[in-house]
Amino acid sequence: MGKPTGFKEFERATIPYRDPLLRILDFNEFNEKPDEQHLRTQGARCMDCGIPFCMSATGCPVDNLIPEWNDLVYRGRWREALDRLHKTNNFPEFTGRVCPAPCEGACCLGVTDPPVTIKNIECTIVDRGFEEGWIVPEPPKHRTGKSVAVVGSGPAGLAAAAQLNKAGHRVTVFERDDRIGGLLMYGIPNMKLDKGVVERRVDLLRAEGVEFVTGAHVGVNVDVRELREKHDAIVLAAGATKPRDLPIPGRELNGIHFAMDFLRPNTKSLLDSNLEDGRYLSAEGKDVIVIGGGDTGTDCIGTSLRHGCNSVVNFELFPKPPAGRAAGNPWPEWPRIFRVDYGHQEAAAKFGEDPRVYQLMSKEFFSDGAGNVAGVTTVEVDVDFSSGRPEFKEIAGSERQWKADLVFLSMGFLGPEATLAEALGLETDPRSNFKAQFGKFATSLEGVFAAGDCRRGQSLVVWAIREGREAARECDRFLMGKTGLV
Ligand SMILES: Cc1cc2nc3c(=O)[nH]c(=O)nc-3n(C[C@H](O)[C@H](O)[C@H](O)COP(=O)(O)OP(=O)(O)OC[C@H]3O[C@@H](n4cnc5c(N)ncnc54)[C@H](O)[C@@H]3O)c2cc1C
Ligand code: SF4
Repeated sequence: MGKPTGFKEFERATIPYRDPLLRILDFNEFNEKPDEQHLRTQGARCMDCGIPFCMSATGCPVDNLIPEWNDLVYRGRWREALDRLHKTNNFPEFTGRVCPAPCEGACCLGVTDPPVTIKNIECTIVDRGFEEGWIVPEPPKHRTGKSVAVVGSGPAGLAAAAQLNKAGHRVTVFERDDRIGGLLMYGIPNMKLDKGVVERRVDLLRAEGVEFVTGAHVGVNVDVRELREKHDAIVLAAGATKPRDLPIPGRELNGIHFAMDFLRPNTKSLLDSNLEDGRYLSAEGKDVIVIGGGDTGTDCIGTSLRHGCNSVVNFELFPKPPAGRAAGNPWPEWPRIFRVDYGHQEAAAKFGEDPRVYQLMSKEFFSDGAGNVAGVTTVEVDVDFSSGRPEFKEIAGSERQWKADLVFLSMGFLGPEATLAEALGLETDPRSNFKAQFGKFATSLEGVFAAGDCRRGQSLVVWAIREGREAARECDRFLMGKTGLV
């Protein structure tokens, strides 16, 4: 419970980010290093609320035992805190860095005061575990003789692989890319999640017996029939990688790119050559427009700034969220409020204002006359939510032209690519995701399971971990007739 009076004595204080004007000079993680006393004080704010909503349906998706490890951190019992954390979360070093922390939105202290800094505490417990050498490979003592193929190495595939290996099955992860990690590796940029952190965990899994095959595009250069014949079960964790397009006039102009066509090569070049091979799209000296928000939009802003862009503007279709919870968005729901993410803070520090412009609809990309984008024509919109679905009404006379040499489309993803489902003959749902019931994770094919974004649609790392764990449990039950996995 932390210190009984801690929540009255201590203010919430998150681990600070590095100075925005300095951190945009590199791709290193933006958090500063926490000190132990700071974290113990924050753990002391956990207030023994009795019913920890941070662990409820609206709180942590992996059901982390939050009050238990808050208390252990307050008491300085870090090793036990680490063991509690690993009971429910295979990769707290990922969620501790990138999770939006729905737990904090549901924290009981949050009803009256700023919530406990749960995410920071989680991250520090596991980082300390690595620093102290407490996290070592733990291969299973017995092997079952069964073998499982996992397709995709994002957080869902890695969590499924970790759990199935723990249950004693031989696990091979097939990844089409050249590095393991899915969007942990090539989506989320280095300043938010250092790639050494991803590789460290992959190395541990390898040492525990998980086999990884890169450059293996199942359904393309890996035959699905062979895969089914060679393995007793398959877990599909292929992600939702089909980007939403913006088919307005001028879309064919040079300089308009999907966000991932900017972010992926940047990280690859960074890892391959510290950006010296030049095999990435540079925003240096460019006027950049990012269409669409969310984590992906923020990452495009942060990356453009690190390249040294001339300007960056972010178009949002929806209105600016309120500063505090609206009446229809009570605690313990996820607070739909105005937030300033790292990229917004950096753009404001560099250019003097937040880069976001709200209620803007893009109407047309205009050209420089030589086939390159020169900017975007927009119109302001009113948004009417009264029918339950947002309806956009253009405001007459509000047209405006914005200058741009580079435009990034960051408007979400439309489910998994069709290759795998077609090759396997898999049923999909009306949104083109792999059809499999939550909780069961079994697809229309016997012995084939699906987890993460390819099943639920574009989501979060913490949900991918939850689904990977649970799909592994169901896969283990299928293979053995019973399961000890939770
Ligand atoms: C730019 C960006 C930033 C994000 N930031 C955050 C964040 O800060 N916090 C957060 O919680 N979430 C964030 N997300 C969302 C999060 O990354 C995803 O929800 C999560 O990674 C989904 O995990 P997954 O394992 O289901 O799929 P993915 O991580 O997408 O992994 C799927 C893997 O499958 C591979 N694959 C696909 N098809 C095949 C095939 N046929 N054969 C072999 N391999 C295949 C792909 O190459 C990929 O490596 C972000 C997403 C993006 C795009
Ligand atoms: S995984 Fe996310 S929701 Fe769960 S405790 Fe960590 S930060 Fe909170």
